[in-house]
Amino acid sequence: MDHFGYRNGEMYAEEIPVREIAEAVGTPFYCYSSATLERHYKVFTEAFEKQGLDLLLCYAVKANTNQAVIATLAAQGSGADVVSEGELRRALAAGIPPEKIVYSGVAKTAGEMAFALDSGIYQFNVESVPELHQLSRVASELGREAAIAFRINPDVDAKTHAKISTGKSENKFGVPWVEARKIYAEAARLPAIKVVGLDVHIGSQLTELEPFREAFVRVGGLIGQLREDGHEISRLDLGGGLGIPYDPTVQEPPSPDAYAAMVKEVVGDLGCRIIIEPGRLLVGNAGILVSQVIYVKEGQERKFLIIDAAMNDLLRPSMYDAYHEIVPVVQNGRDAEVFDVVGPVCESGDIFARGRKMMPLESGGLLAIRSAGAYGAVMSSTYNTRRLVPEVLVKDDKFSVVRPRQTYEQLIGLDQLPNWLAQ
Ligand code: PLP
Repeated sequence: MDHFGYRNGEMYAEEIPVREIAEAVGTPFYCYSSATLERHYKVFTEAFEKQGLDLLLCYAVKANTNQAVIATLAAQGSGADVVSEGELRRALAAGIPPEKIVYSGVAKTAGEMAFALDSGIYQFNVESVPELHQLSRVASELGREAAIAFRINPDVDAKTHAKISTGKSENKFGVPWVEARKIYAEAARLPAIKVVGLDVHIGSQLTELEPFREAFVRVGGLIGQLREDGHEISRLDLGGGLGIPYDPTVQEPPSPDAYAAMVKEVVGDLGCRIIIEPGRLLVGNAGILVSQVIYVKEGQERKFLIIDAAMNDLLRPSMYDAYHEIVPVVQNGRDAEVFDVVGPVCESGDIFARGRKMMPLESGGLLAIRSAGAYGAVMSSTYNTRRLVPEVLVKDDKFSVVRPRQTYEQLIGLDQLPNWLAQ
């Protein structure tokens, strides 16, 4: 459930008409709801509490790295899952304590490792043997000890989009589960490395429990073997990946309650602290992208709503063929018509929806692209020299611009002329 709903035909973000924010900020802009973020955090953590599981929730900040969003979740008690020094710096700056931060990612550099060790993070999720050796070297040089879990690649099909599937043996992620015992033995022999756990993340936007179950059964069995080998495995990081309902006409993904019950059933008796790294589930439906119709264009075969948001602002439809609900900010009562909703970027792939039946809007009409809080603003670019759009956070009847619209001076000013062209 989110806090974007209609009252008298007008869309509200919590207690504020979205139209009023659009008038103040201009379009396009991202709008996030604090109450929705807080609710999602609560629903997820309570689902695990009900199962009596010891849980550390580490929000996968890659989904939305705005400081205000991270700080909202930090205030709820959230930890963070980061995949770069930049994300680590953002998590720390937003108030996430280092002892609640896990560091994932296939290619941590020596510099990034040193920064993370100096910051005192909770755990490195190591994804390869070369990375293990590098971490041992860096930690030894700094006189520190790195707590590690290996990210296991369980060779399980997550049954999600190929570009966000990460747990098959052909994917670049993790160490092969069949080699895990050998690799853990190697880790135990290295200086400055402390083996503490095991990690698995098989993909994103999973809409069924079965692939999770398959992966968790596999790593659960592995924990037994690793313990027999003498390793102390006290933490089990199950990654993120639980999907959200993007399209109201298709079946909803499993609930956090169902997910937590399955976790309890499959790995609940191992005595491990459970770490989870949800991203999309916390922030996806907590955000909308608000845009304005520039032109209604009658093509030869199709009717286009050309809006002022584009693929550079929200890449998911062109990158993953993702479905996003598109709704008017102010309902006009007109009968639905079929449109292609497209942006102004010079690419045929700049499409938000093809053949979508929706309420017709005129030039200047406002619309909201729903479920845009995850992998939206973070994946945006300035392609076609379009400025990064503002992000707004709503709380009750207040809103605040938490990232202003980029100016053309800032955007173009990033470039520098070499001295032979500067005259
Ligand atoms: N953890 C890791 C290692 C990831 O790569 C990702 C994203 O793909 C996540 C967590 C978050 O996934 P999601 O947003 O689907 O919950």
